[in-house]
Amino acid sequence: MFAASFAGRRKGYKLSLIIFVVVFFSVAATFALNTIVGYETQKKSLTNNTLELNRITANELSRTTQTIILNMQDTLKAASEHLAEGSWDSRTIQEHIDFLRKSVPYFNSVVLVDKSGVVMSTSPEALNVKGKKLTSAQTRQALELKKPLISAPYRAVTGRMIVMASYPVYRSGEYAGFLAGSIYLQEQNVFQRVLGQQGVNENGSFYYVVDAAGNLIFHPDKNRIGENVSSNPAVASIMKGQGGEMPIRNTLGMRFLAGFSVVPAVGWGIISQTPAANVESSVGEVVWRMALISAPLMILLLLLVVLIANRLAAPLNRLAMIAAKLNRGEASAEAIPEVKHWNYEANELYRAVSGAFRMLNKRAEDFSNQAHTDTLTGLTNRRLMDAIVEQWVGQGVPFSVIMLDLDRFKSVNDTYGHQKGDEVLRFLADLMRAEKRDSDYCCRYGGEEFAILMPYASEQQAYELAERIRMRTESAISPTGKAMTLSLGISTFPLRAGDAESLFKQADDALYQAKESGRNRTVVYRPRAVALKAEGGGSYSI
Ligand code: GH3
Ligand code: MG
Ligand code: MG
Repeated sequence: MFAASFAGRRKGYKLSLIIFVVVFFSVAATFALNTIVGYETQKKSLTNNTLELNRITANELSRTTQTIILNMQDTLKAASEHLAEGSWDSRTIQEHIDFLRKSVPYFNSVVLVDKSGVVMSTSPEALNVKGKKLTSAQTRQALELKKPLISAPYRAVTGRMIVMASYPVYRSGEYAGFLAGSIYLQEQNVFQRVLGQQGVNENGSFYYVVDAAGNLIFHPDKNRIGENVSSNPAVASIMKGQGGEMPIRNTLGMRFLAGFSVVPAVGWGIISQTPAANVESSVGEVVWRMALISAPLMILLLLLVVLIANRLAAPLNRLAMIAAKLNRGEASAEAIPEVKHWNYEANELYRAVSGAFRMLNKRAEDFSNQAHTDTLTGLTNRRLMDAIVEQWVGQGVPFSVIMLDLDRFKSVNDTYGHQKGDEVLRFLADLMRAEKRDSDYCCRYGGEEFAILMPYASEQQAYELAERIRMRTESAISPTGKAMTLSLGISTFPLRAGDAESLFKQADDALYQAKESGRNRTVVYRPRAVALKAEGGGSYSI
């Protein structure tokens, strides 16, 4: 279909191709639009879902963390009260804080510090800070405030990044120092146990914990612990005490969908976030799958369109081909079939075109008949007669010609009027037509003279027809109420004449001869040599 259509470019594109192209582009545009809208909608919905999910996760983790911290402080409180009552020999203290460290899952290490900041005991003992004076800001703060505290992350004397939870110890009403549990932020610790080992799940989501000043306390990347990330908008919000959800750009410039929540007891924040790129790529996957699912449907639809387009275009196509043939003169209007098509326009077009062609054909036929027919008698007129003679002479077709002229016709006109004269002419025409052979042409030569062209007819055959006509005329009652007579002259091509002019001249001579020798007779032309021998005129009657 396409090859043919492109080959026919000069004459315009085929309807079926046009329909296909229009539908193809509509379908493709719809498909593309659907895909784009689908992608955007999916992306928006998945983004919102992810934000929501991260906020819920952050809330959960924040509640858990809050519980851990409160429990941690309760535990320290109970332990410090217990310590206050017992004896303070180093063995008892050691047993006591060992028990504390091992009985709860919170602390990597536990220390007892006296009121001057010197470490009295550590668990585990191998910590090697026993007897040392602690000088960090966090320790000094605990000693000065004499209150339960949870420190910001800091680097301890052991070189570790830690968070320290401390509780003051009073003996007999007097401040004696503090009991502190440390969480080693870069090692196995309570956060990892409770918040999850890696903190990263399969869709790339992960979470981290910051303190009230925006320092990382927990992060899947241990090397970043202690780093200040307060430029992160989610962290900034936490530092103002507000939880929520938002798309963010982290301190490294990557885009994330973050949900975050504040741990009220300490002002820390938990941020759960998913890389935006992961969400986008999974949206891309979903949309691609959708496209793959609808692709066979689209192909089916297009095939259907091709089918319908072809069906729709077929009758018009056929009509166009017939019209082109008619145009080239290779077919007649009869070639347009009577077609019933389910398409209204096709039907109407068929009817209109075939109707128009039939009418045109009829007109053309009428014109051609009029051009070749004598209006008075309906006989072949002079123009067609000349054309036939020219053709036969040109092709060497042998034929005889009979020339006829009514006798004393002028008197008919004079006596009965011109009208009657016309009737007589029609009467004679009918008579000639009745007598001639099918292949003969009866022609009105001019006025009241006629000629009959007889293809492949000998002189004899021409003579016989001439005599038949002459005898019927003389014995018939003409419109005047009386019988008419006529004179006839015959000649034959190529027996007597080699060209049309001399042929008619000879027939005319013979006719003249018939008039001269008394009318109501037929004369066959004979060459002069024969005539001389017979001692006569230019011709003889037989
Ligand atoms: P002839 O026997 O010698 O032929 O005598 P004629 O009277 O027939 O003489 P001619 O052939 O010369 O006559 C021609 C006449 O035919 C002249 C004209 O009035 C008449 N005529 C020619 N054409 C028509 C025609 O169309 N209708 C009528 N009514 N008369 C015609
Ligand atoms: Mg005449
Ligand atoms: Mg006459």
